[in-house]
Amino acid sequence: MSHQSFDTRIVHNKINQGDALNSKSTPIYQTSSFTFKDLDHLESYYAGEASFSYSREKNPNTEELGQTVANLEGAEAGVAASSGTSAILAGILSVVQAGDHIVAAEDLYGGTHHLITKELTSFGFEVSIVSFADKKKVEEAIQPNTKLLYTESVSNPFLRVEDLEGLVSLAKEHDLYTMVDNTFATPYLLQPYKKGIDIVVHSATKYIGGHSDVTSGIVVGNEELMAKAKQKVSALGANLSAFEAWLTQRGVKTLGLRMKQQSANAQTLAESLQQDELVDQVFYPEYVSEQGHGAIVTIELSKKVDIEQFFRSLGWIKLTPTLGGLETTVSYPIRTSHRALTDEERALIGVNDYVIRLSIGIEESADIIAQFKEAIHESVKENSQK
Ligand SMILES: *Cc1c(COP(=O)(O)O)cnc(C)c1O
Repeated sequence: MSHQSFDTRIVHNKINQGDALNSKSTPIYQTSSFTFKDLDHLESYYAGEASFSYSREKNPNTEELGQTVANLEGAEAGVAASSGTSAILAGILSVVQAGDHIVAAEDLYGGTHHLITKELTSFGFEVSIVSFADKKKVEEAIQPNTKLLYTESVSNPFLRVEDLEGLVSLAKEHDLYTMVDNTFATPYLLQPYKKGIDIVVHSATKYIGGHSDVTSGIVVGNEELMAKAKQKVSALGANLSAFEAWLTQRGVKTLGLRMKQQSANAQTLAESLQQDELVDQVFYPEYVSEQGHGAIVTIELSKKVDIEQFFRSLGWIKLTPTLGGLETTVSYPIRTSHRALTDEERALIGVNDYVIRLSIGIEESADIIAQFKEAIHESVKENSQK
């Protein structure tokens, strides 16, 4: 293969599904099921020969998307699901059963934290939430029935970069599975599977899709685990629709271009805000990869800034509880992603009224900086001096 680099592979990722008309783009297989010409043909599906039968189980568009992301991650197989959340659930259920114990990082995405601590525990799973910044704490939490260590490669909202090598060696010592949410880093920056992580998951709603027009998720790993994950997706009805798989596939083709620009913009903004006296703290990873350090910047504004006024002064930058789109947007963790947490849990992580998460887009860097500076400086409380 002469097409080995990321950007080359990503645009040549059409998987030939036997399209008789040789279409350039993969058609949308907007069909609930596939037909069989006779009973032998039907039997051949169960023997693994005929490819498709019922879209909840398998559809050409969802297959193509799963394989594309697996290819970008360097993994054997990938499964598309109806959301990042359902991909996370399918990944977890492919290695854990009721009665088993999961050790998960304390600084997870809010929805994942809820899924693991509230939903899974109600089905009889046991869970410990600990700081993964200190691998001793992770080791101390391991019990005889522990099966899985779960974390994020770059955490939300403070962008802690996980020590994946350390995690893999700890898991090997104790014969555990590892699972990493790689949503913030994307396979453009990091490929945790290549570092020995068993299961890698994405909310494709974010950078993989990249255009804020689809809710979808992908889980990747080896053939054996992904066969289980695929069975869970189908059995739980968590399948992605053909059209949303197609949209996500269309989006992922520009992942490299987008991440290049968005990461560079984010780094420039982070450096600029570090110099601003009205920004108390800037959280931006020192190092994620040679390709860049990601497109999220989290800031803690000075107490001199009126937060309500700041959100009203953002001009073309919109407030939205998501990230990873083409446009620069902001989110307010305390009222969105971390809303369900108790005050105590939030304090532990460091989410407070002044913490704002910035998702940096592909716009001109100088425009982004100017708009943030304007919003911050227009929002100084009247009774405080600059
Ligand atoms: C958004 C997000 C999720 C959940 O994904 P959905 O597609 O909304 O279900 C999980 N993990 C991270 C890091 C996210 O940003």
